Amino acid sequence: ENIRLDQLLQDLLTIIEPSAEKKTIRIRKDMDPDSLIEGDSARLKQLFLNLLTNAVSYSSQNGEITLILRQLEDKVHVSITDTGIGIPKEEIPRIFERFYRVDKARSRNSGGTGLGLAIAKHILEVHEGKIEVDSEPGKGTTFHVTLPKRLH
Ligand code: ATP
Ligand code: MG
Repeated sequence: ENIRLDQLLQDLLTIIEPSAEKKTIRIRKDMDPDSLIEGDSARLKQLFLNLLTNAVSYSSQNGEITLILRQLEDKVHVSITDTGIGIPKEEIPRIFERFYRVDKARSRNSGGTGLGLAIAKHILEVHEGKIEVDSEPGKGTTFHVTLPKRLH
């Protein structure tokens, strides 16, 4: 299935806008147009919705979320940056495990189950992509996703 990734991401921004607005979180975007990739649109929606939902959940009032989509020759790069609570370095290897949440007390009020990133990682494996994290506690987090334009 051929997917317009810029459009898919735009649809997701519309979905998370109300919850971002409640926390006065500003959303910025910079997306290359006409980004066509091969994949499963339902799964890719879920992958990016999980990342965008996390960006909102783990940010406090008046934060900022930045979504960047870049087309390279044979792949696309998407980054989602927030100005939220960040993730301690020693926790980063574990956040993709099922049911793992960094600080139970800290994340309790967001009501999650700890599955979002495990699902995201699985979807990326199916799509021959990868995910990387840059984070600084108290400053924010960036998730970098790379997806090939064509599947083998
Ligand atoms: P679910 O997504 O199932 O509702 P969850 O958000 O707790 O629950 P994941 O999305 O898998 O689960 O994330 C795992 C943990 O990683 C989170 O509990 C949180 O501690 C941490 N985390 C994920 N994204 C961010 C982020 N953008 N900023 C800070 N911490 C994050
Ligand atoms: Mg989550």
